[in-house]
Amino acid sequence: MQPLNLYSMYKPTLYLIATCCILFLFSSCAVNKSAEAVRFRALQKGKIKDDSSYVYSLPFAVADKHRLVQGYFSRFTHRNRAALDFKMKKGTAIYAARGGVVMRVKEDGDKGGLDGHYRQYGNNIIINHNDSTRSGYWHLQYNGAVVNVGDTVQQGQLIGYSGNTGYTAFPHLHFIVWRSERGNWRQIGTRFQTRKGAKYLRPFKKYKRLK
Ligand SMILES: [Zn+2]
Repeated sequence: MQPLNLYSMYKPTLYLIATCCILFLFSSCAVNKSAEAVRFRALQKGKIKDDSSYVYSLPFAVADKHRLVQGYFSRFTHRNRAALDFKMKKGTAIYAARGGVVMRVKEDGDKGGLDGHYRQYGNNIIINHNDSTRSGYWHLQYNGAVVNVGDTVQQGQLIGYSGNTGYTAFPHLHFIVWRSERGNWRQIGTRFQTRKGAKYLRPFKKYKRLK
């Protein structure tokens, strides 16, 4: 075989390697260095302790296990967001991470993709808690909510089914908590009950809900 043929054979691979290198370089420059992002990385690594905040349940069924593919201020689409992405198959049952009153339900979206214009199709449920915080569950499947606005839900109650609607690259649950600070809604990180106690979750790890 001639060298030229070899080159054309491996051309797609070479392009892939080059693209990965560029993406890697780009992402290392893109780390969020705000005070808040730095604080969250320290919390995630256990360098700062926090034992007063509410402990959330993992938002899926007892004994279910899902990988956290993006954590707080991750480099891909969460650079400026204190949000969590759990990878899961479409149709996975979603449970309330904390009790409260349902304030918003959208379940008529039927499209999703990695492009900003898909954002409007993102099905979601938002639950108000009793301490000026609220939490959101995103990318649910079409008609994927089993609760209605005004319903009171308990922590660990079934609220809907995951999907891939809205601005998303693959089926997952995007979970987010906000706190009202003098009228401004700010995204905050929260602790979850895990096998190893109440923890801030770390990206790329798998988490199993115990109870
Ligand atoms: Zn997300």
